[in-house]
Amino acid sequence: MSEPLHYRSTRSGQHAASIDQVIAAGLAPDGGLYVPEALPRLDAAAFDPRGSLADTATALLTPFFKGTALAAELPAICREALDFEVPLRPLAHHADGSVLELFHGPSAAFKDVGARFLAACFRRIRPADAPPVTILVATSGDTGAAVAAAFHRQPGVRVVILYPDGRVSPRQAHQLGCFGDNVQALRVAGSFDDCQRMVKSALGDAALQARRPLSSANSISLGRLLPQMSYYAHAALGWWRRHRTPLNFIVPTGNLGNALACVWVREMGLPVGDIRLACNANATLSDYFDGDPYTPRPAIPTLANAMDVGAPSNFERLRWTFPHDHELRLQLQASSVDDDTIRDTIVRHASEHGELFCPHTATAVHVLDTMGATGLPWAVVATAHPAKFDSVVEPLIGRRVEVPAALQAMLQRPANAEPLAAENDALKRWLLHPMA
Ligand SMILES: *Cc1c(COP(=O)(O)O)cnc(C)c1O
Repeated sequence: MSEPLHYRSTRSGQHAASIDQVIAAGLAPDGGLYVPEALPRLDAAAFDPRGSLADTATALLTPFFKGTALAAELPAICREALDFEVPLRPLAHHADGSVLELFHGPSAAFKDVGARFLAACFRRIRPADAPPVTILVATSGDTGAAVAAAFHRQPGVRVVILYPDGRVSPRQAHQLGCFGDNVQALRVAGSFDDCQRMVKSALGDAALQARRPLSSANSISLGRLLPQMSYYAHAALGWWRRHRTPLNFIVPTGNLGNALACVWVREMGLPVGDIRLACNANATLSDYFDGDPYTPRPAIPTLANAMDVGAPSNFERLRWTFPHDHELRLQLQASSVDDDTIRDTIVRHASEHGELFCPHTATAVHVLDTMGATGLPWAVVATAHPAKFDSVVEPLIGRRVEVPAALQAMLQRPANAEPLAAENDALKRWLLHPMA
């Protein structure tokens, strides 16, 4: 019973590891993604009906951590990481619709949940006498700020963020560059895929690692994926207690980390109903779920830039969960939503209902709008605050978007990012001789 849960790589099935090793490593040594050997099953009755989000997270994640050094710390980790609200709010225009707001953390996007949990784990895993570690993050916009906020001023840790210059919103860029102290932003003359390639190349360079110990905090880390299950479990259990029906979710999707967390909660036996993926014009997933062979492709830039992914990393974990295409296609449906539709959706909801959505959330709102009457309760997942994307939203609606206090504080600090060529060696040289 108290046997710890083992984790393996999606690629070779080798490299059994415990959760603390998995969290410290990020990626498996064979380049695969870590997955639990089996998903534990839990009963709705095992959760405290009056529990907070952190209490739900602790109960949900206990089987993943049992028998390890972190197990006793799990309640404190969940309290530290999940100390903001994740409200489920009824939608004005839709009798069966709600919105699950995941943007009330420090960086105003759902990435705060995973980043803060990972940081809380790192604080406990790293021995006090360990050499300083540099956490490398490639970001298409929101991950970098969440990781920076979570690790800012943490002793023994330096954060280096790589983002594609000109491809993030001006406010996202400001957020990435505003931390200072142990956080450095690098604006890369290339795409997000270039940033990811450079980070992977540095992480895989043993000679570099010998001189500059490196780690990663990208969304492929299980330490970010597991805590994201908490808000799905918390919302679905709350709904179940009130209505005795499962809650159905529409998830804005890019790299598939957020939606996979929802799928895993359902696999664990909790009352999650249908799950629909809302993608932008990057249609890799919607084509696959419509019956085409899985075909990763280069990403194209869209208004929902944090979802500009042509080769979603977590597809590998979804395949591990459901190895056969026919079985996997029964689990999810996916839609691709183009930029014009994102604009229309933002404008229409602002003018008709006074509700504001970020471009990512708008893809999911559109899926709900076009679904017709299902008679089922749907929760649209709101992944970021619209004020983060003021450069898209404000011209469309013709007025200012109110800025949450935490974001306002970041915007008032000066920001700075160093330029970097989109070459693996440029990053390696920078890491050995940072100009800062
Ligand atoms: C990261 C992000 C997404 C996509 O989430 P995935 O886990 O990569 O699918 C959607 N919306 C926003 C605002 C994001 O920051």
